[in-house]
Amino acid sequence: MLNGKVALVTGSTSGIGLAVARAYAKAGADVMINGFGEAGAIEKERAGIEAEFGVKALYSGADMSQGDQIAAMVAEAEEKLGRLDVLVNNAGIQFVSPIEEFPPAKWDQIIAINLSAAFHAIRAAVPGMKARKWGRIINTASAHALVASPFKSAYVSAKHGIAGLTKTVALETATFGITANAICPGYVWTPLVEHQIPETMEARHMTREQVINDVLLTAQPTKQFVTVEEIADLALYLASDSARSITGAILPIDGGWTAE
Ligand code: NAD
Repeated sequence: MLNGKVALVTGSTSGIGLAVARAYAKAGADVMINGFGEAGAIEKERAGIEAEFGVKALYSGADMSQGDQIAAMVAEAEEKLGRLDVLVNNAGIQFVSPIEEFPPAKWDQIIAINLSAAFHAIRAAVPGMKARKWGRIINTASAHALVASPFKSAYVSAKHGIAGLTKTVALETATFGITANAICPGYVWTPLVEHQIPETMEARHMTREQVINDVLLTAQPTKQFVTVEEIADLALYLASDSARSITGAILPIDGGWTAE
């Protein structure tokens, strides 16, 4: 489905991003992965993608809080893989705290990684996509692009911002064969969710089990975590030719959370 295409997935050393990058490689795309982690584990993942799927896989260690590194990463993908057709802005972090105690540095970091990074990457990738008259921009937003939860002021603000950015880019690129969409997962069991459990226990004075059942799964009518494979399948569909008329969409995949 993606033979001959090149995809860049930010924040793909773990969780949702890794599942998306692997799904694209399985569909035939050359991929650039990105994110933090232990060098040996990342190299094993990169080499594993090449061996398993017979595509090229590169790794960029660009820090998504740094605009110049993001632009350089897009340029590197275009130079070393020949083009960039599918851009998935996925890197993200979370921090949970009452607003009056929310550290300003955390606010700045979350806005930079979860929102501004997508601006920098899209800005760098769109000229090549316009020239080739084909492109797919997929932003991993969140149910928190549509609704809020207490104690997540920076995250909710960044994700609502991503929804606005997605719609704006969709309008600007609509006549160039480019689509821009946001995927809005509910709770997916990844390190990002696991790490916020201790902070939520503290902010809400709850046990671990109470956080999982009464805060996380209570939001989802299905009472089940979304899986990374489900998100990857949606990202694969959005990257396909069949999805050319879906643009500017803010797509929940949240077990019914935002239907309430
Ligand atoms: P994760 O922690 O498993 O993965 C996050 C990825 O981002 C990792 O590869 C990490 O190294 C990378 N990253 C973090 N900071 C970075 C930086 N400064 N520069 C480069 N890479 C950086 O988390 P995940 O759950 O897979 O989250 C991926 C995306 O999905 C995020 O945007 C998150 O907000 C969103 N999301 C997750 C959930 C969920 O429940 N897990 C729900 C909705 C949306």
